[in-house]
Amino acid sequence: MPLAENKVFTINYTVKDKEGNVLDTTNKDKPYSFLSGQNQILPELENKIGEMIIGSKKKIVLPPEQGYGEYDEKAVREVKRSDFPEDVELKEGMRFVADTGDGRQLPFIITNIEESEIKIDFNHPYAGKTLEFNVELMNVRDASDEELIHGHAHGPDGHHHHN
Ligand code: ZN
Repeated sequence: MPLAENKVFTINYTVKDKEGNVLDTTNKDKPYSFLSGQNQILPELENKIGEMIIGSKKKIVLPPEQGYGEYDEKAVREVKRSDFPEDVELKEGMRFVADTGDGRQLPFIITNIEESEIKIDFNHPYAGKTLEFNVELMNVRDASDEELIHGHAHGPDGHHHHN
C-alpha cells in the first residue's frame, strides 16, 4: 500500500546504533512531526511508518544502504588551519558547512587537529551505521495549506511558528 502523501505524521522515536548506543530520541523533547512525500525523513523509514496504525509501536532496522550510506574514506580530507577564519577557536567535534561555490552546502565535522593540519570528515554522522528505530505513531492528520506550501510539517498541531 503506498504511503498517503500530504499527511502530517507525528511520532515518538528512539534511534540506536548496532551496539545499542542511543543516537537520538524524542523522549527528552517533544514528538517529531513530518510531512509525508517530501523526503523529510529516510524513504524506507517513511514507508515503514506508513504501514503503522495510530497508537502502535514498531521496531524498524535500516542497514546503511537504507540509512545514510556506507562510510566513505574519501570523504575525509586534510585542510590547513589557514582555511578557517582566524578568529574561530577550532575544536574536534565542531561542525561547519562548506560552500561549494555552486550553491551547494556540504556539512562536515572536524575530527582531528594537529598543529596546522586539520582533518575534516564530510560523511554523515550516521554513515556506515545500521540504525534501529523504535517508533510510536502518535497521530496522522491532513497537512494544512500552509504546510503544503512550505513543504514541511509545523508540529503536532500545525501551528508552529518559524521564520
Ligand atoms: Zn513552514
